[in-house]
Amino acid sequence: MGPGLRIRSGDGGLTLIESASFEEEGFIAAFTTRKGGWSPRPFDGLNMGFGVPDDPRNVRLNRIAALRALGLEPSLAAAMRQVHGDRIAEVTEALKGRGGLDHSTAFAETDGMYTALRGVALMATFADCVPVIIADRTGRKIGLVHAGWKGTALDIAAKLALRMGFEQGRAEDFMAVIGPCVGPCCYEVGEDVAATLVKAGGSGALETEGDAIRADLGLMNELRLVGLGFAPGRIERYEGCTSCEEDSFFSHRRDKGRTGRSAAIAAIAV
Ligand SMILES: [Zn+2]
Repeated sequence: MGPGLRIRSGDGGLTLIESASFEEEGFIAAFTTRKGGWSPRPFDGLNMGFGVPDDPRNVRLNRIAALRALGLEPSLAAAMRQVHGDRIAEVTEALKGRGGLDHSTAFAETDGMYTALRGVALMATFADCVPVIIADRTGRKIGLVHAGWKGTALDIAAKLALRMGFEQGRAEDFMAVIGPCVGPCCYEVGEDVAATLVKAGGSGALETEGDAIRADLGLMNELRLVGLGFAPGRIERYEGCTSCEEDSFFSHRRDKGRTGRSAAIAAIAV
């Protein structure tokens, strides 16, 4: 699983992965698994995404259970309609609660959010793409992004850090955790995608094996944050693969699109 990460269990088999170091600093940074929840196949059981053909009532129940397991108030949670872009929204007092339990009010065409509000959960959903949560310990802000290969090439994690006030002299204030995503073991990419990732500075995250090119998007996000100036010891990363770990995670690639979504949940603890 990786150093700094641990399991949190809730009612009905609910299982989340959370960062102990974020908790020590007064933040919540967690990733849901598919364990627990009310959704039927192929969304079983803790589907956190409204964007798949699961009954939205199940998603609402699942989100409420996961947020409550973390001590967060569901009605304050914010979520997005993700489009693999690089738009980032600040969740202010006037905007809290948008999208958390109702997809129609979610932040449109947005793949990143941050907030300075205590107790307001930020949620993003995933099935193989990379969740990155970033916190500013002294500025007291937290944010997250959804980064597939497009968002990774657009450098959305670094853009989030900069929007949150990252600068070289403040590197020690910032911490990041990169959640469960598809590993290079299960993520072969075509030449076009590989070329785009190389152009974005990701050659260190590509592996070739015969004719196959494999991308490690989690590693690429880590390398981009290190490149920006993050202290390497302040970046945690889940060690594993959403496609290989079928009992724990939804995987768009493995399940050929018919699957649920896990969530990254980030908040400043109340
Ligand atoms: Zn794998």
